[in-house]
Amino acid sequence: MKSRRESNARFRLVLTLGLAVVLPALTLIIVNFQHVKSIQRDKKVEALIHRDFQYLLTIAAKKMASKAYGMTEEARDAFPSVNDSDDEKRRKLEQIVQKNPWFTHVFFYDAKKGLVLQPQHDLMTEKDVEESSKGYSVWFSLEGQYLCAQLNRKPKPIMWMPSESQKPNGLVYTTTAIFSFPGADRDRPVLGGVSFDGVYLKEKFFPKLLEELTSQSFTNNPEQVYEQGFHELMPHEAIEHPDQKLAMMVYPAEAEPERPVAMSAGWGSGKPEVTYKLDDPFRGLALGIKFQGTTAQAISRRWVWQSFMILGVLSVLMIGGLVLTYRSVNKQVALARLKSDFVSNVSHELRTPLALIRLYAETLELGRITTQEKKNEYYSIIRKESERLSALINNILDFSRIEAGAKEYDFRETDIAELVCNTLDSYRYQIEQQGFALEEHIDPGIPAVKVDREAIARALVNLVNNALKYSDNEKFLGVRLYREQSMLKLEVSDRGIGIERNEQSRIFDKFYRTCDPLVHNTKGSGLGLSLVRHITRAHGGDVEVESTPGRGSKFTLSLPLAT
Ligand code: ADP
Repeated sequence: MKSRRESNARFRLVLTLGLAVVLPALTLIIVNFQHVKSIQRDKKVEALIHRDFQYLLTIAAKKMASKAYGMTEEARDAFPSVNDSDDEKRRKLEQIVQKNPWFTHVFFYDAKKGLVLQPQHDLMTEKDVEESSKGYSVWFSLEGQYLCAQLNRKPKPIMWMPSESQKPNGLVYTTTAIFSFPGADRDRPVLGGVSFDGVYLKEKFFPKLLEELTSQSFTNNPEQVYEQGFHELMPHEAIEHPDQKLAMMVYPAEAEPERPVAMSAGWGSGKPEVTYKLDDPFRGLALGIKFQGTTAQAISRRWVWQSFMILGVLSVLMIGGLVLTYRSVNKQVALARLKSDFVSNVSHELRTPLALIRLYAETLELGRITTQEKKNEYYSIIRKESERLSALINNILDFSRIEAGAKEYDFRETDIAELVCNTLDSYRYQIEQQGFALEEHIDPGIPAVKVDREAIARALVNLVNNALKYSDNEKFLGVRLYREQSMLKLEVSDRGIGIERNEQSRIFDKFYRTCDPLVHNTKGSGLGLSLVRHITRAHGGDVEVESTPGRGSKFTLSLPLAT
């Protein structure tokens, strides 16, 4: 009946835990697990990073173009007009070249007056100048009008002519801007042009821009990042790589990225993760981007691994929490059972001596007992039963005081040998009557110790009572008092039913009673040993048990001599 109620309570607990905690937590963990797996399977982290890279490259390309356009437009504003004299034109062009050392040459073409080409002298030989001038003159005389018409149709009247040339220090990429002038006569083609120095592009223009673009960490300077439109870079919540530095390179679009035109610091080795083909003014070139020292794949792998770890730790924590809750509730259920057992045991314990006392007192009262011997026997039964009753009530009172934290001990210098003798004396008759052989051994010369007389006597009585109650085969009771170094030992041993090993530590818990059938049939409250332990600990000592089932038990109280 009892165990059915308990297992019902346990079942209800498991059900509640399952429905309220495990199910939602498990669902959450499984859903997250699936989610992380799908991210891993579909390479979503890589895709997001690549999308961000693509975006960054678009911005980089725009920045490069707008810088080149800006430089060109600034130069165009200083260009001569058709009405200027030849000297004036030359002077103005010379000024432009001086102010802009990154142009290898600039030129001005007027269909009526021909071409004026101003070289950067240290960048062009006489021969180069001659060849270029000839080339432009022929070209513009043939197609000048057509070019002007084309340019005027564009939102920005500038066209670009990229070219590559092999120089002693490697392949050099350059670009030339050809532009028309607003408000020029339709039938008189007038064109201007500036040609960028390839070495300048390779060594200054591209490296500076790449450095600028890659030095911004995604989160270092949010305002600047925002201005430049980088705010879109890392919009996704879960995947962040703000500390990852970027590296970029510019390389000829047709060639492999092994032959870069320029690259930012920290490129190291390896291929770009995402590439972007540049349009005017740098048509023919491409941009590549990657992380410094890592790859999107590695970042993704780390993220997935971290997510799995977190889920794993969460699962372990959940299981741990469950086990702890289950155990603690189990304990509570067991304690509740022990308490209800205690109530029924105590009521029995109270009822039996009371009934006996009443019965014998009534019999005496009726005056039916004639012999003095019989009368004495009845008196003794009444005395013994009332002693049992007060021992039980004392235990319960002590216990409730301990539970309320109000138990106080009265420590006094005590001759403990005499205390043990006296206590045993008052039980000697009962012990012998029950057929027990009492073996008493008290070492001489035990010094006086400061103890609470009543409490120590109660501990001893509890141990003696237990020995009497739990011995059904060999009726033996041994009591020893001796000194061991700085400790005083009080041993109570029996050759009774003994205690199973796994129960030995629990018998000192309040209300705990072992499962032995003899224990079940013997009345008890399960409080005695918990009191014994409390009393000895209050004296700075402890209680231990040694026991073999079927062979008997030995309880040893250890009390420090100097308290
Ligand atoms: P009670 O004797 O009232 O049940 P105790 O706290 O004194 O309570 O003892 C707790 C339990 O320990 C007992 O129910 C019994 O199962 C076990 N026990 C105590 N003393 C002995 C002993 N000497 N021999 C065998 N079992 C014992």
